[in-house]
Amino acid sequence: MKSILDETKFIMKKYSIKANKSLGQNFLINEEVVNAIIDSANIEKEDLIIEIGPGLGTLTQYLLEKAGKVICIELDSKMINILKERFLLYDNLEIINQDVLKVDLKRIISEQKINGKIKNVKVVANLPYYITTPIIMKLLEDKLDIESITVMIQKEVADRLIEIPGGKQTGAITYTVYYYCDSEKIMEVPNNSFIPEPEVTSEVIKLKVRNKPVVIIKEEKNFFNMIKCAFMQRRKTLLNSLTNTHIFSSKDQGLKILNAIDIDENIRPEKLTIEDFVEIYKKIYE
Ligand code: SAM
Repeated sequence: MKSILDETKFIMKKYSIKANKSLGQNFLINEEVVNAIIDSANIEKEDLIIEIGPGLGTLTQYLLEKAGKVICIELDSKMINILKERFLLYDNLEIINQDVLKVDLKRIISEQKINGKIKNVKVVANLPYYITTPIIMKLLEDKLDIESITVMIQKEVADRLIEIPGGKQTGAITYTVYYYCDSEKIMEVPNNSFIPEPEVTSEVIKLKVRNKPVVIIKEEKNFFNMIKCAFMQRRKTLLNSLTNTHIFSSKDQGLKILNAIDIDENIRPEKLTIEDFVEIYKKIYE
């Protein structure tokens, strides 16, 4: 059996493929990483797997063997031809040639679930890094009926996504991911695991979607917008950021709110837990 490296080189040569940098094409060639992604995704026969950016089909091959159905969403039509030929004999593959951000995943998932053969939906992908955050946000904020998201992304972003709010790597996005998911680091991936090598280190993470969010918030959009505003100005205190972005109507109002809930007026936003933000939110809006 050919190694993943040989197979990748063979396919690239056969179809005259040059990786398209602007589409974030870095093809995975490290067998150990492929196995780690597939194992940690915990795929069962009644699963629908949504693979975003299958590229040449390295992960797809394994997904097709393990899952009941695989839906691949790939923007590059050159890849579509390769996937169709490579997996001609599989009857559990559907390929969508579209920008994942424009695909109506909610409709696709409910159609698949209706026939009763699919129990759980899982996302598995080596994502295109230039749109990592919008993709993850779409998967979470659209409240899709998915069980987990196992993805490889750039390490720097991964560490922020899986941080517990208040920890060292906390950013605005940390709160959103924590609200929806219980997350886990699977492994760090060196640059030489890809053709061509990306400029950044990568990481595989698994986000397990919670049955219900960790805190109760009526207007999620408003709540996360407030958190975004808190992080908009780097190195500023929470009080200044929320005042400058007009979340607090005045510094005075901000001071009163922080005092009332016992939060230091000089605190920086990344030190707050999600519960702290809920308290502030309630004081302002409820
Ligand atoms: N899964 C393959 C692998 O592991 O070798 C390829 C991963 S590569 C990092 C990302 C893939 O996402 C590429 O095939 C690229 O063409 C595709 N892609 C880029 N932008 C996309 C988009 N907006 N929607 C769907 N696929 C996209």
